[in-house]
Amino acid sequence: MSTFIMENTTPSSPSAVPALIVTTVVALGITGAAIWQAGGGGTGQIPRFGKQSADSPLVMPEKGAPDLAFRPLSPWQTLTVPTAVRLDPPAGTENGAFTHNAQPFWAKNEKRGANHTGDDLHGIGGNNTNLGDPVFAIGDGLVVFAGASTAGWGNVVIIAHKDAEGKPLQSVYGHLDKVEVKTDALVARGTKLGTIGTADGQYPAHLHLELRAGDVVDAGSGYAKKQGDLLNPAETIGKRRKALNEAISASPLAKALVP
Ligand SMILES: [Zn+2]
Repeated sequence: MSTFIMENTTPSSPSAVPALIVTTVVALGITGAAIWQAGGGGTGQIPRFGKQSADSPLVMPEKGAPDLAFRPLSPWQTLTVPTAVRLDPPAGTENGAFTHNAQPFWAKNEKRGANHTGDDLHGIGGNNTNLGDPVFAIGDGLVVFAGASTAGWGNVVIIAHKDAEGKPLQSVYGHLDKVEVKTDALVARGTKLGTIGTADGQYPAHLHLELRAGDVVDAGSGYAKKQGDLLNPAETIGKRRKALNEAISASPLAKALVP
């Protein structure tokens, strides 16, 4: 039956078909690499647009709209992002004990005139009691940003995941003291990303954790009027904590293409 298909669907000789597939794969790879380079190569500073930055300046973007400073993931990064079936808390023991969510997701902040875009995880003793404590990846993922962001954020790590249904998910870890991972690193759930900080003394030590059902790299503004693709971190992690343990796994195609 296989010869029937070959004879009736293509004028190519059987030996030409693998060559055509190889040529197509190479051409797609070159196109993807070109797009990636044009997009900044997946490293470096997040572009800054508008005036809003994190918790610091008491201004909102013009007209109160969310600040859409973003960079799409490169084709290569998209291909490499692992699935995070299970999620765990990012700080204060593996069960999240010893953290206090001082400003929960979507709490209205009167000073900023908008809602908080994540959870603020402080030490249960308040003030700087969790300064320097470890921050862990909430799930298997690919580091798509690691380093200094805008002034209000201090150091930031952003991890791209696919959720259990294969949809894009990102976790953002703000106000870090030290950053101990690099952009483009694959990290397993529980990997230490850095330590809790104060964004250079701007706040009492805490971790700003933000979750988004999106795939653009964006430190965001810390406060927003529209929820958009923002997710409730505590609720989302709570739902995924019961999932089975998994091993970190990039896409099979990404693995096949790695030299
Ligand atoms: Zn915050």
